[in-house]
Amino acid sequence: MLTIDGETGEGGGQVLRTSLALSMCLGKPIEIRNIRVKRKKPGLRPQHLAAVRAAATISKARVEGAEIGSRQLRFRPQGVFPGNYEFDIGTAGSTTLVAQTVLPALMLATAPSRLTIRGGTHNPLAPTFDFFDQAFCTQLNHLGPRIRATLERPGFFPKGGGIMHLDIQPADGLRPLELMARGDVQLQWAEILLAHLPKHIAQRERDVVSDGLALSDDLVNVRIADTSPGPGNVVTVFTESEHVTEVFSCCGQRGMPAEKVAATVVGDTLSYLRTEVPVGFYLADQLLLPLALARRGEFVTRRPSSHTTTNMTIINLFTGMEFDSRQIREGAWRIGID
Ligand code: AMP
Repeated sequence: MLTIDGETGEGGGQVLRTSLALSMCLGKPIEIRNIRVKRKKPGLRPQHLAAVRAAATISKARVEGAEIGSRQLRFRPQGVFPGNYEFDIGTAGSTTLVAQTVLPALMLATAPSRLTIRGGTHNPLAPTFDFFDQAFCTQLNHLGPRIRATLERPGFFPKGGGIMHLDIQPADGLRPLELMARGDVQLQWAEILLAHLPKHIAQRERDVVSDGLALSDDLVNVRIADTSPGPGNVVTVFTESEHVTEVFSCCGQRGMPAEKVAATVVGDTLSYLRTEVPVGFYLADQLLLPLALARRGEFVTRRPSSHTTTNMTIINLFTGMEFDSRQIREGAWRIGID
């Protein structure tokens, strides 16, 4: 049984999710200690428990320690069993993070799967549904599998109740990931999602985004999403370049003026455009697992985040694979497996 120290690097939920994903993909039983000890509320929170349960369901795993607050987990997968599954986080915890836990195993399984996941779809500190769909799944699809994500309705903190579906057509193996250049920006557009909140919020955000990115009105879409059970607001910018789509978002929060929400997204987008790398700050740590599963590939990104270096350490522990990570020019790093 492989033992993982949850305190490694970031010491957050990613150590748990990557470990579960690799345990299933490689058929390796694991024990994780010190789960999320570096977080304010350590141990398994509902979203992490939902990820453990989802992983246990699709792999018929024997599990010990799957309880709220637990800092230790044993997980013994029995295989990977594709099928139709529904997972309900029960809180506004992130549906995309639960999806990312089971997706690697299911996209390499012997038959298709369909998942329905309920919870938060647009959360701070996690990929939003749009990022997951347009930035992350688009890259996975280049590697071979056919993954289609659909949003039935958004869910926001604190009410949750969002629903996303995931159709996964697996691939036999993965093609190497090659993302060394961004290519020209072909289209840039924005969407402002607003649920059960005054319309002037969207209008003020729209003004900041149009000004900040010089987007004409028809490229800043306001989507009223009152099918969401609770209030919420998200500003998202989609930067579609020749070889990659990157997605930047900020979730509206109590006490943060609409102008600041929009300005944060504008700032993140401009900083990405300036560095001229294809892979942005967040996508980088999320592409490491597909890169390792493909056993070969490379991409160019910004200075690696602590999520990125942590994920490299965990993947190395499972596979022995060494990532080559080095600066290739000002503001740009090449990450690869040769
Ligand atoms: P953890 O903090 O360990 O639970 O991991 C959080 C994960 O969410 C990491 O994979 C981050 O890359 C990802 N993430 C956080 N914020 C964003 C964002 N704004 N857009 C996309 N992904 C994000």
